[in-house]
Amino acid sequence: MNKVSMDNSNYINVYVGMDDTDSAKGMCTTYICSVILDRLKDCGFKVDSLPRLIRLNPFAPHKTRGNGAVSFKMVLKSETEIEEVKNIILNQVEELSVMEDPKTNPGLIFYQVHQENYESDYEEGYDKNITPELQDYALKTIRTIVKQEEAEALADKIGAEVYRFKKGRGIIGALAAIGCPLEDATYELLAYREPANYGTKRRVDAESVREMNHQTYPDTFDNVDDGYMAITPHTPCPVLYGIRGETPEAVLEAQKLVNVSEPIERSRVFITNQHTDMHLQIADNISNMKQFQCYIVKGTVKEFPINIEGGHVIFTLTDASGEVECAAYEPTKDFRDVVRQLAPGDQLMVYGGIGNQGTLNVEKIEVVNLAPLYEHVNPLCECGKRMKSAGAGKGYKCPRCGNKIRDDSKEKIEVERKIKPGFYEVPPSARRHLSKPLVRG
Ligand code: ATP
Repeated sequence: MNKVSMDNSNYINVYVGMDDTDSAKGMCTTYICSVILDRLKDCGFKVDSLPRLIRLNPFAPHKTRGNGAVSFKMVLKSETEIEEVKNIILNQVEELSVMEDPKTNPGLIFYQVHQENYESDYEEGYDKNITPELQDYALKTIRTIVKQEEAEALADKIGAEVYRFKKGRGIIGALAAIGCPLEDATYELLAYREPANYGTKRRVDAESVREMNHQTYPDTFDNVDDGYMAITPHTPCPVLYGIRGETPEAVLEAQKLVNVSEPIERSRVFITNQHTDMHLQIADNISNMKQFQCYIVKGTVKEFPINIEGGHVIFTLTDASGEVECAAYEPTKDFRDVVRQLAPGDQLMVYGGIGNQGTLNVEKIEVVNLAPLYEHVNPLCECGKRMKSAGAGKGYKCPRCGNKIRDDSKEKIEVERKIKPGFYEVPPSARRHLSKPLVRG
């Protein structure tokens, strides 16, 4: 429980959401949020609780990278304070957003809830001011595609103020970042570079990251992948590294173990819906699944998986309602070896999202039941040696004792399966931000 003590006058809870400030060429909405929070602190304002990094539908059409939006909450005491805070935020967004990129369309939401006698019953992940309607909107934005008009209409209905730069598309994510419930949450510590170093190789000591992982896993997770450090992005953005973990304390402790040989301009811990599977909906059946949405779906493997060009592995999942093509793409690396072992009749729960081509992009599978797999082999001779064909229609002959049989039929034997029932997942480097690693239970 995070208590905020205040004297007994009226308070104004101000929720700030922002999105769509960056571009593929640079910047990051979490960075702008961090600059704003430091600026607000310097000006004497207190931010209630950790800022929130909320990942939205991974198939949203206009996303730059990981479809992340941010929000934070402040408790203020007067309209003058609110105006001052708004000015700081709007100026920073205007100054730091990549406005010259036509695809960058920042949007901001300010949502005020007035309250007498401030008694914070705030708990990470729970806030009574966030109505079920706002929460439902956030879940819809995480699971489906929403229109800007819907965000505008809801903001209008709840009396939130909307600020649009250019097309202002960012208000979709900004409102969702305010509304997102966080019953399950993880934490990410983001460290940012000096602007002079943007675009240059990140100087993070990989050995120290491995050691950090060794000492702190599974309180921190997905920071190392198959021995390689997985905390540094590959884009020219301000992020030096991000450490993922179960608690703020875990990621802060982990940071102490990571050595870098370039200056860190600032760093900040975000509470986030990353790694919670919040994007997944339970599908009633295969035919009810829609494109650009993510599901947990039950079905049976139809045929043996096949390898296709590019190193991808695909198979068809069926149920009484229809079938869907499922793919383990090349970046999922060793996970493809598991998929290659599937056989017709295997019963699965598949976790993943339906992309552009209507193919289900697999994030993890639960093998519920393995079908018996048979192969047809030449019969065994009485002497124990497997026989050889004596020619078409001529039966079999034993290569050891010369024994012959006229019967042409083969023997059906059960083959030992190379996978077992249970869960299998893609490696951290191929994992969607929202996807829950098995280590989280
Ligand atoms: P980064 O992760 O680097 O911050 P991004 O991948 O979050 O970038 P944005 O630049 O924020 O991408 O662009 C995503 C845009 O899509 C935003 O305008 C956001 O409001 C909008 N958006 C997010 N989710 C949805 C959705 N479910 N339906 C429609 N639009 C969405």
